[in-house]
Amino acid sequence: MVQTRSLIDEQGLRTDGRTTDELRNVKIQVGIVKNADGSAYIEFGKNRIIAAVYGPREVHPKHMAQPDRCVLRCRYHMSPFSTDTRKNPAPSRREVEISKVMREALEPAVMLEDYPRAAIDVFVEVLQADGGSRCAGITAASVALADAGINMRDIVSACAAGKVDGKIVLDINDVEDKEGSADMPLAYLPHLERVTLLQLDGILNQEEFNECLDKALQGCKMIYEIQRKALIQKYFGDEQELKEES
Ligand code: ADP
Repeated sequence: MVQTRSLIDEQGLRTDGRTTDELRNVKIQVGIVKNADGSAYIEFGKNRIIAAVYGPREVHPKHMAQPDRCVLRCRYHMSPFSTDTRKNPAPSRREVEISKVMREALEPAVMLEDYPRAAIDVFVEVLQADGGSRCAGITAASVALADAGINMRDIVSACAAGKVDGKIVLDINDVEDKEGSADMPLAYLPHLERVTLLQLDGILNQEEFNECLDKALQGCKMIYEIQRKALIQKYFGDEQELKEES
């Protein structure tokens, strides 16, 4: 990451007009893939991502089955039209890495022991990428798992923070990701207060790291509220939402 131009103006506003503490617009819709057992669509800034969950179901190949627990499999994929240059549809090293960290971020939330010898498959398809797609993907996947009725200990909420123009900012967008000086994606179980993913691209000193961690945690808590509302909306409709607000 090499920063060549100013990404925060004199008023403290970022390239997309946000303050340092603001999330991009986040919208989640639950249950949009009819053939899946659970699904979610997320708009996270300009990210457009679908997560679909299949299972618990029989494991193929059978030797992958575990006698005491379920196998959680994740596939993160960026469609060829998701970026401004055509992305090769074959899985890249980056997608293999994100699929792995995504599984590790989700696993602690799923009661795998409740489904021995079975598999749960999670597909995350990025239709449009805008930086922070792994966090948006994890957030959508966790809602899709809940929509599939999978037993869960907690929801997984994910959000990045980073360093831009020497300032710690919440929810890095694509320009900030490419031109900023640090990007720290975080996934968090809001009730168990447990971090399940923490990556860092860039360099932060101890003080900056602590500030970044705090900011990303705040972001995850905001994301959690949006996930909760999306699930309530699907299962109880507007009525429950109105009751909650009053
Ligand atoms: P994240 O999306 O989680 O921030 P990265 O930091 O690895 O993940 O990627 C940042 C952004 O770079 C992506 O959201 C996407 O916009 C862009 N990007 C990643 N891979 C490609 C690619 N193969 N072609 C074009 N743009 C890409």
